[in-house]
Amino acid sequence: KDLIVLDNVSKDYPGDGVITKALDSVNLSIEKGVFTAVIGPSGSGKSTLLSLIGALDKPTSGKIYFEREVITNLNNRKLANFRFEKIGFIFQQFHLLPTLTALENVMCPLFTRKVDYHKKERAMELLDEMGLKDKQNALPSQLSGGQQQRVAIARALVHHPDWILADEPTGNLDSESSKIVFDLLKRLNKEQGLGIILITHDPDLAKQTDRIIEIKDGTVISDTMQRDSKIVG
Ligand code: ADP
Ligand code: ADP
Repeated sequence: KDLIVLDNVSKDYPGDGVITKALDSVNLSIEKGVFTAVIGPSGSGKSTLLSLIGALDKPTSGKIYFEREVITNLNNRKLANFRFEKIGFIFQQFHLLPTLTALENVMCPLFTRKVDYHKKERAMELLDEMGLKDKQNALPSQLSGGQQQRVAIARALVHHPDWILADEPTGNLDSESSKIVFDLLKRLNKEQGLGIILITHDPDLAKQTDRIIEIKDGTVISDTMQRDSKIVG
């Protein structure tokens, strides 16, 4: 439990007569309590790895176990439910809807769902936790990059996921906003027990996680537990 396991996972993208091997026989086991960074050069397969773990796409071969459940065989409807139950995504481009307020953006994933909690209260609580209580009615264009990313984090959390998958969430932020966003993710891991998998190009941030998985040409070339990391569970 509380474990994501990749068993011999490969992903090919077909193209014009050439096939890109984005991932090649990757074996990994990722623990929820261990704040995990994924690093590697551009085009090495990091985003592909995250999209397979998050069931946005399926591997060409191999199996992915998500907390013991094999997700690679699920049909699309079950995958959508699985994502809603388990996963929050954040991206480098914040992907906020420009015509909705901060509050509405956070509530957005709940609009199409029957859920038994008060959507607005839940969203407000998260904006507050992100230090954005007074920005609830602001449009994304009225917010700084760091504030927009915090809205996106609140949105990723609104449906109570167990894991946050973050693809370069600080890639568009200045160093001060990066630190705020990174510290929020770290706190979610250490205090609230959310699993975090963070793709980053920033070596200073990677160093502050518990584990660094380095990808190159679709394979894991190094996998390091950091010295003062604390393994939970
Ligand atoms: P990274 O996140 O490390 O930059 P990606 O996972 O985005 O790497 O890409 C890995 C390789 O797969 C790259 O060569 C990229 O061009 C290719 N790739 C990624 N997504 C697709 C796609 N949807 N179709 C075709 N090729 C893709
Ligand atoms: P990142 O900034 O995380 O590295 P990219 O900018 O490489 O992401 O890719 C963004 C999106 O484009 C992803 O969904 C990826 O799958 C897709 N993509 C990346 N490379 C290709 C490619 N060569 N052909 C088609 N889609 C691609």
